[in-house]
Amino acid sequence: MTQKITDPRKDTLFVLLHQLGIQSHEAGLDEETTKMLLEEAYKLAVGAILPTNKDGDSPGCIFINGQVKVPESYHPAWAALCEGGWLAMVDREINGGQELPICLDTAVKEPIIGANLGFSIQSGLTHGAAGLIEEFGSAEQKILFLKNMLTGKWAGTMLLTESGAGTDVGALTTKAILQEDGSYLITGEKIFISGGDHDLTPNIIHPVLARIEGAPAGTKGISLFLVPKILVNNDGGLGEANNITCSGIEHKMGIHGSPTCTMVMDDARGSLLGVENKGMSHMFQMMNEARFLVGTQGFAMASTAYATALAYAKERIQGASLTTGKQVAIINHPDVRRMLMWMKSHVDGMRSLVLYTGFLFDQAKIAEDEEKIKLQGLIDLLIPIVKAYCTGKGTEVCDKAVQVLGGYGYCKEYPVEQMLRDVRITPTYEGTNGIQAMDLLHRKIFGTKLATLGTLLDEITKTTDQAKKFEELIPAAGFILESTAKLMGSTKALGETAMKGNLPRAFCHATPYLEAAGDIVMSWMHLQRAVAALTAKDELGDKQVEGIVLTAQFFINTVLPQADKTLVTILEMDDSAIQINEDSL
Ligand SMILES: Cc1cc2nc3c(=O)[nH]c(=O)nc-3n(C[C@H](O)[C@H](O)[C@H](O)COP(=O)(O)OP(=O)(O)OC[C@H]3O[C@@H](n4cnc5c(N)ncnc54)[C@H](O)[C@@H]3O)c2cc1C
Repeated sequence: MTQKITDPRKDTLFVLLHQLGIQSHEAGLDEETTKMLLEEAYKLAVGAILPTNKDGDSPGCIFINGQVKVPESYHPAWAALCEGGWLAMVDREINGGQELPICLDTAVKEPIIGANLGFSIQSGLTHGAAGLIEEFGSAEQKILFLKNMLTGKWAGTMLLTESGAGTDVGALTTKAILQEDGSYLITGEKIFISGGDHDLTPNIIHPVLARIEGAPAGTKGISLFLVPKILVNNDGGLGEANNITCSGIEHKMGIHGSPTCTMVMDDARGSLLGVENKGMSHMFQMMNEARFLVGTQGFAMASTAYATALAYAKERIQGASLTTGKQVAIINHPDVRRMLMWMKSHVDGMRSLVLYTGFLFDQAKIAEDEEKIKLQGLIDLLIPIVKAYCTGKGTEVCDKAVQVLGGYGYCKEYPVEQMLRDVRITPTYEGTNGIQAMDLLHRKIFGTKLATLGTLLDEITKTTDQAKKFEELIPAAGFILESTAKLMGSTKALGETAMKGNLPRAFCHATPYLEAAGDIVMSWMHLQRAVAALTAKDELGDKQVEGIVLTAQFFINTVLPQADKTLVTILEMDDSAIQINEDSL
């Protein structure tokens, strides 16, 4: 069976126009252009990128004669992506961008990533690397690299990880030595580098974290450098090969269509990007964008898995109906419907969440003073939730898709087993989900003395107040308010435990806390969706409105109570995981 991609012209359009109302906001975009862009993105995903997905999985990217080759089908797909300007939708026109809203860029990523996650990683990394140059680059670095990267002529990467420096990036040992001409010679080995080498573009620009000789140990002594695969002459032309090579690629569980490279630098020539010893803080500034993208990857994979499972469930005839006794398509069985509804409610909620967060970025860009601070606080709070929740649930949705397809779901002829393998990296890279949970609790909640959490709860209350105008939404609004009170209770209990100096006891609850907070945020999104649908009832039609309201009801009635239980359990502050002797684990 062929993989399905969710058509963004339906629910995505509803979220953008009705839940978020982007067409009537200064930071948004008009309805006609929004529709046109969604339509074009869907065409690109189905016509140009989806046909690369099987090749991406097998044979995938191969390492031959010291170089990485992508599947042949990647070349026309990359050309289509770049020629359409999809790589730089949100960037400044002067750099080859289109200055479109981030929420729209996020919306078009759903079909593009869903069509081939491994392929899409290259464009995300190139955009992220270009973002670093835009933010911290010198005038010369911008002239030499920016436009070439944002138009997809050259690709970009991120070289952080080393064998002894994974989560603890500060432990890195790659060193940089200043030369008389102001450039640096960089030596070290980086591992797990996505797109570290490939033949998709004639040059690859690597932002590299390294320590300048004599710099302090730990994160305070790390600087950021730009190291091109092929050195770039002052006139912008390509010079000789730099001393950075790929020594091999990983043989992974999934995303075989994204080469994960070991990169060796032996006196590779690079230039300092930004300020000496500020490499980590420069990277941190780009972290929100990168983590947001990975959360979007988890969601987009869930979306395509759901669309594929739904199509299969409508076609596969198996078993008798409980009511008529006749053979039916499996979509008629209550347990299959429950799985599909669970998947749909997570996919729709995550769509609303990533687009809402994207729109917060857009609004923050143009806001001023207090409003800007408030929006930024909300973004900072939501980012670890988007990253960890959408990748965790994205993986669970792909797993459920395998279950919906029965034994066929486990076989390679059916696309969902690849989806499950591919999506599984998203909870791990760009800061593991465990690290996201600690970030949420430590930096975003305790670090702001609960201020950002207060802002979130105020926003949730605005929606519950709106919902109370619709009789059918009153119970749901009440449940959400009860859950937010429980969230506040557990937050305070965790804070008190941490304040008493028992950090391990508090932080062993960080992940369940993030997951419960995620369920509450998703319930809030569902309530926003239901309010928007009932408000635009005449425009949308009964079927769509009923679908949105019932999906919200399902999530709030069946998923949210699990979050409540988790929050109550946290109050017990069980610390057996900390107490248990290592030998007994
Ligand atoms: C396919 C793939 C692509 C990647 N792409 C890139 C890339 O392009 N560029 C790049 O630089 N890196 C990349 N990475 C690296 C990736 O970001 C790291 O694998 C990840 O950050 C985890 O580091 P690690 O593997 O060393 O695990 P470790 O750091 O050893 O972590 C192992 C476990 O311990 C936990 N842990 C570690 N420290 C703590 C702590 N302080 N508190 C609580 N828990 C902790 C982690 O959450 C995890 O569960 C990629 C990895 C893969 C597999």
